[in-house]
Amino acid sequence: MLDLSTISVVDNHCHPIFQNQRMDTLQFRACFVEGNGPSFPERHLSNSVYYLWFLRQVAAFYGCEPTEDAVLATRNSMSTDALLERLFPPANIDTLVIDTGYPPSEECYPLERMGELGYCRVAKLLRLESLMQQLIVAYGDFDEVVERFSAEVSNVREHGYCGLKSIVAYRTGLNVSQWSKDQAAASFAVARAKAVQDGKLRIAHKPLLDYLLHIAFSKAAEQGLPVQFHTGYGDSDTDMRLGNPLNLRDVLERNDYQTMQVVLLHESYPYCQLGAYLANIYPHVYFDLSYTIPFVEKLEMLAFTRQAISVAPASKLMYSSDSVRVPEMHWVGALRGRSVIAQVLDEMIDADVIDKEQAVHIAQQVLHDTAYAVYRL
Ligand SMILES: [Zn+2]
Repeated sequence: MLDLSTISVVDNHCHPIFQNQRMDTLQFRACFVEGNGPSFPERHLSNSVYYLWFLRQVAAFYGCEPTEDAVLATRNSMSTDALLERLFPPANIDTLVIDTGYPPSEECYPLERMGELGYCRVAKLLRLESLMQQLIVAYGDFDEVVERFSAEVSNVREHGYCGLKSIVAYRTGLNVSQWSKDQAAASFAVARAKAVQDGKLRIAHKPLLDYLLHIAFSKAAEQGLPVQFHTGYGDSDTDMRLGNPLNLRDVLERNDYQTMQVVLLHESYPYCQLGAYLANIYPHVYFDLSYTIPFVEKLEMLAFTRQAISVAPASKLMYSSDSVRVPEMHWVGALRGRSVIAQVLDEMIDADVIDKEQAVHIAQQVLHDTAYAVYRL
């Protein structure tokens, strides 16, 4: 088996962890569930192969019994600092590219400290829908919101971000359309009324959301900036039909957007072949291979990794964990990403498709180099 442990990973899509890592069983299980309702953590998670595998890995690493209770007791006996100090260095992480849009910042452990204790760099992404929501809650005038939004997405690197992130897939869909200013303003009036009434907003107002996204896309193109799109599975409020990356066609075809790098997150699962194919035909499209979330087991990971490496150039593929809430995910994602990619490359060596030197180069690109170039780390 190829040994990829010396390749440090750029985790091109992950999230902060909770400040407070002391959890009871249901709180811990909830970190591993995307499905709605209490029945998943209570009754179904312990029958999910990915969770059983996860518990075995963590138990072996902590040196405790391979049971949920023992894992919880062990991690609850450690501070958050101690967990990070133990887990992150052996994961050999070069950079964490963090979407700060979730969990809410007041619940999160400080990002800089994650970097310090993990001996890794931390780079941030600006989540577009969060910015939109803040502005719509704060300002009652449509033109003012548009102006402030444009300003925020104009000098993104100067503001400390290495790219943008959109969750439009699970709000109004990836079929981002063209709307007139009047249509967007009418949509704004509805959103703003809701924001005033509730003191907060969950933006799902299509003409307004699409209109603001097009502003962000043209600014991203001007700056040569990557924009991550949630695609496929990964959140329970998604309409999976609209998370198919083929819905992005109108955006991908736009001549004036060709200098914005589009990153399709979560291997577009289960639209993996389609996403990899887009990365193979559009020069500015990249494909993210995520090894903790979506919550699928190794045979599925082998399948999407085979598809991606068989379809798209390695210079279009990049590793992530999509880890969130608990640091074991960032650790286990790096281990599993390396082992799945190694297994697929081994198959390709055995089949005399590539040689060992080429395999190591491909792994280096997927785990590190592609993201390094795209996010200009
Ligand atoms: Zn994510």
